[in-house]
Amino acid sequence: MPGTLRLRRNSNQHPEKRMIQPKNPKTISTLCGLAPARSIRGREEKIAVAEVGYPTLKALLAAVRDCRACEAHLPLGPRPVLCAGETARILIVGQAPGARVHTTGIPWDDPSGERLRAWMGVDKEIFYDESRIAIIPMGYCYPGRGTGGDLPPRRECAALWLDQLLTRLPRIELTLLIGQYAQRHFLGSRRKPSLGETAKAWRDYAPQYIPLPHPSPRNQPWIKLHPWFERRLVPVLRARIKALSTR
Ligand code: SF4
Repeated sequence: MPGTLRLRRNSNQHPEKRMIQPKNPKTISTLCGLAPARSIRGREEKIAVAEVGYPTLKALLAAVRDCRACEAHLPLGPRPVLCAGETARILIVGQAPGARVHTTGIPWDDPSGERLRAWMGVDKEIFYDESRIAIIPMGYCYPGRGTGGDLPPRRECAALWLDQLLTRLPRIELTLLIGQYAQRHFLGSRRKPSLGETAKAWRDYAPQYIPLPHPSPRNQPWIKLHPWFERRLVPVLRARIKALSTR
């Protein structure tokens, strides 16, 4: 049923204040992406999303990390990988975790992340500082593999959670839109016909957004074919990141 979630019951609260609680709140790490995988057992019920409200970003993130709305479609099971702090001024929106990130629980903990950090001009300390940088992909759990590589991000994440998360991140000044799914969601009809053209038209979306290709090593041929990207856009990206990540 659209607009409903399978979530654990928090039965002693008023329905309008009902929140989804983590099984063990102490397991929710304050460090970016280090929340451990959990399996949720016990009573479950369908709860309309509109009925669920979360008083803080921390509570909302705990609920997202307990989400199992599309569990039946996830070959490795739910393990939402995202992080955010309410003071963050930069938001990274990618596609979905790969199998490696599903295992570690750390976003962009792979060669794509290495290249993204190089483009941004930041080290891991800054990149994983959720008080400065929020990382929220279009799909939060590993979606599995299809014939052409990893499947697209599950749509349920954005439908159920994204707007709530963005509302709790009022200081975001720059959003990096990595790949077609993020660009489609945030830019809509303002996108150009191809991802490359959208990235090349980055000035059209400034200062709020910078569209980027996926930093996967598999995109190296595209990077080589489009030298303007590293020559013009990457320096602009680094300057913005430096300005916004400096305390
Ligand atoms: S992919 Fe998104 S909607 Fe599905 S279980 Fe994970 S967090 Fe929930």
